[in-house]
Amino acid sequence: MLYEYDALSSMRQPDVVVFPRTTEHVVQIAKAALRHNLPLVARGAGTGLSGGSVATEGGILLVFSRMKQIVEIDLENQRARVQPGVVNLDLSLAVADDGYYFAPDPSSQKACTIGGNVAENSGGPHTLAYGVTTNHVLGLELVLPDGEVIHTGASHWDQPGYDLSGVFVGSEGTLGVVTEATVRLSRKPEAVKTLLAIYNEVVGATRTVAAITARGITPAALEMMDGFCLRAVEEATHAGYPMDCAAVLLIEVEGLREAVEEHADEIEAVCRENQSREVRRAKSAEERDLLWKGRKGAFGALGRISPNFYVQDGVIPRTRLPEMLDFIGSLEKKYDLHIGNIFHAGDGNLHPIILYDERNREQIARVISAAKEIIMRCVEMGGSITGEHGVGLEKSDLMPLIFSDDDLELMGRIKNLFNPQGRLNPGKLLPTGKMCGELRGGLMGGGVV
Ligand SMILES: Cc1cc2nc3c(=O)[nH]c(=O)nc-3n(C[C@H](O)[C@H](O)[C@H](O)COP(=O)(O)OP(=O)(O)OC[C@H]3O[C@@H](n4cnc5c(N)ncnc54)[C@H](O)[C@@H]3O)c2cc1C
Repeated sequence: MLYEYDALSSMRQPDVVVFPRTTEHVVQIAKAALRHNLPLVARGAGTGLSGGSVATEGGILLVFSRMKQIVEIDLENQRARVQPGVVNLDLSLAVADDGYYFAPDPSSQKACTIGGNVAENSGGPHTLAYGVTTNHVLGLELVLPDGEVIHTGASHWDQPGYDLSGVFVGSEGTLGVVTEATVRLSRKPEAVKTLLAIYNEVVGATRTVAAITARGITPAALEMMDGFCLRAVEEATHAGYPMDCAAVLLIEVEGLREAVEEHADEIEAVCRENQSREVRRAKSAEERDLLWKGRKGAFGALGRISPNFYVQDGVIPRTRLPEMLDFIGSLEKKYDLHIGNIFHAGDGNLHPIILYDERNREQIARVISAAKEIIMRCVEMGGSITGEHGVGLEKSDLMPLIFSDDDLELMGRIKNLFNPQGRLNPGKLLPTGKMCGELRGGLMGGGVV
């Protein structure tokens, strides 16, 4: 049962669960799957929020929890070779004393794996400044569904020929199984400043986001939480967030000491111009860690106050945030639901969190309608159906909202090239023609986080 769900949905048990230790094991398993014509689904930590690692058609689930070796660390060339089951944070911890880290930092980084990050092209709070996983992958070793082993990229930048790593990163386990990744390590900045700007009205916070970047400052992170989420987070983590405000921005600037001071002062001024009632600065590494612990533990904190919740993931241009929050507020009233908001605000990546109780089928129908309206509005605003959680099972049938028939046809041809029988992670990413409800008998099987 442990392997029948991920952080989105509970759906179907795989027929077999295997725990390879080596690439050769994966090759043999792929060949066995081919012989028996079985689906093959890769799985890291199962923290995916779009149902990607759920074996919807049964078959073999390939779980990477025993392929977790950091094979090589090459600090001089700022790179590491890792097996796919290495936990994201463990890589940063392994090089921290030498002043390095792995930049992609999903909020799930204590649990999620590098294989999952590559498959989902994951981002995190620091995406604003450092990009998503693809910007930190130098090369990959992959096993194709017939057992063939291929290598993409190189240990240096700008490999000639097609950028095949770029094709595989973000392909959600539908093109090949990652058995090793060569990733870039980043130097820790000389100085970091973490600010917490507190607002009595949400609109002040959303306006600040666009105003900061309009000044030509790119913070390393620019996160927003509304008052509803804050109170849940504070009760769970005691991170020092105010309980009586409408929203906060968690803003981080990093780089050379002098520049960081200057940017922090400038950001504070922008926050105050946009009606921030108070701007606090973390005074120590411990205070900074506590603020981030609160932010990164937000989903868990909401799990304490609601039997279930559904995390929506969409993107809009950040200048449209005030409008979008008003719209989400109107949906709360229209559908009589509680919706909390946590954003990677700097890159316009929304995570409205809709609380519900899976025992209430009528409420689930309202949740589905509200979630759908949010995504439709993201698309209308020139955004996208997902910012970082991927398409997976959840949004495959929404792909036509942002891609033409020709675009999808081309993607289908690429999939057929690497995964001609469609046995690798079937039913994910590309449209299946079935609606979510039909697939899952309700809201994602009713097992959301
Ligand atoms: C609390 C919480 C916070 C989160 N915060 C963020 C965030 O800030 N940013 C973000 O981007 N995501 C976030 N996520 C989503 C999730 O953590 C990421 O998508 C993560 O990269 C998934 O990693 P995983 O190891 O759990 O992969 P899984 O969930 O096990 O799998 C995800 C997908 O990757 C494929 N896959 C896994 N391993 C391999 C492999 N070796 N080869 C090929 N395909 C493979 C699977 O088939 C599946 O399609 C969050 C999730 C939770 C629960």
